[in-house]
Amino acid sequence: RKFCIEVVVVCNIAIFLIFYSFCAPLCYEPDAFYGQTVSYIFPFSPVTYFLKKCQYLSFKESIRTFGASVNNFSETNKGDFFMTTLYIGNHTSSSKGYTAMAKQMIANGGNTFAFFTRNPRGGKAKAIDEKDIHKFLELAESYHFGKIVAHAPYTLNACAAKENLRDFARETFADDLRRMEYIPGNYYNFHPGSHVGQGAETGIQKIAEILNDVFTEGQTTTVLLETMSGKGSEVGRNFEELREIIDLVHMNDKIGVCLDTCHVWDGGYDIVNDLDGVLDEFDHIIGLDKLKAVHLNDSLNDLGSHKDRHARIGEGKIGLDALVRVIRHPKLKEIPFILETPNDDEGWTKEISLLREAYSR
Ligand code: FE
Ligand code: FE
Ligand code: ZN
Repeated sequence: RKFCIEVVVVCNIAIFLIFYSFCAPLCYEPDAFYGQTVSYIFPFSPVTYFLKKCQYLSFKESIRTFGASVNNFSETNKGDFFMTTLYIGNHTSSSKGYTAMAKQMIANGGNTFAFFTRNPRGGKAKAIDEKDIHKFLELAESYHFGKIVAHAPYTLNACAAKENLRDFARETFADDLRRMEYIPGNYYNFHPGSHVGQGAETGIQKIAEILNDVFTEGQTTTVLLETMSGKGSEVGRNFEELREIIDLVHMNDKIGVCLDTCHVWDGGYDIVNDLDGVLDEFDHIIGLDKLKAVHLNDSLNDLGSHKDRHARIGEGKIGLDALVRVIRHPKLKEIPFILETPNDDEGWTKEISLLREAYSR
């Protein structure tokens, strides 16, 4: 009787093996039905793992064969794969409206962009053109745009010593956030400010105070603090200062960070030799869930120079390889990468195609 049980067990194993070896070749097809079925019935078996690996590899192969330039895919720690999209674009002129910006970006090969909400020196914003916005939203949807990143005028200083300058910053932020609701769910990025001798702590308090004044309950825009290079008396020269601002903001889910590669490099974060270390540090101090956008720039100056002078991709001290590692980093998937390099549209088109090619390689 014991012998009988052994025979049954051995036979069962044999049937399984035959079944699997029959299934395995079928699973070289990306959407292999058998592979899926087997993995549902035996989710934890090594054979399922093998089959998934086959699917994964064949998928990778077909992506390579078809030369997909936009999409890439990643493997989760469970061995599943998923498609990811590189969202990349450049800072572009807003003078002709949203539709014109989107059209320019499509011509440049981009699927996100940044723009100044008004004259960078802080003038009056143009009247809202609802027809233009409607057309833009349609275009952005059909071309699968990622989130776009509006930029506040860089002359605003939320922590100025003079109250009238702070009032101006407060009013402009509030007006911009109202206007951003016409394109709901996107990002609004600003330079935290310069404490002009009042000390970083006072600066941090004043910046948070203005954010608390202008944030509203129904706001769908996430406001992003930009990492700064630390020139002059800039606040936001390191991750700790940004964390302190974020901690003082009451509507915490409405604030995030935009990491500028040139600024962090000039600020002393070695993204060339230790990108993982810098991102770990960001994660420990701020939390990577707060990292919503990246300004992708090369730098004319050395690590820790506190200068802030952007260079074209691959023409500065950071270099192409390090910047490609940034866009390919698994912890930075699916966030918008914005070029603020000294270029015209022809130059940005070249940079975007160079980076897309490097991304899908
Ligand atoms: Fe900026
Ligand atoms: Fe920037
Ligand atoms: Zn800069």
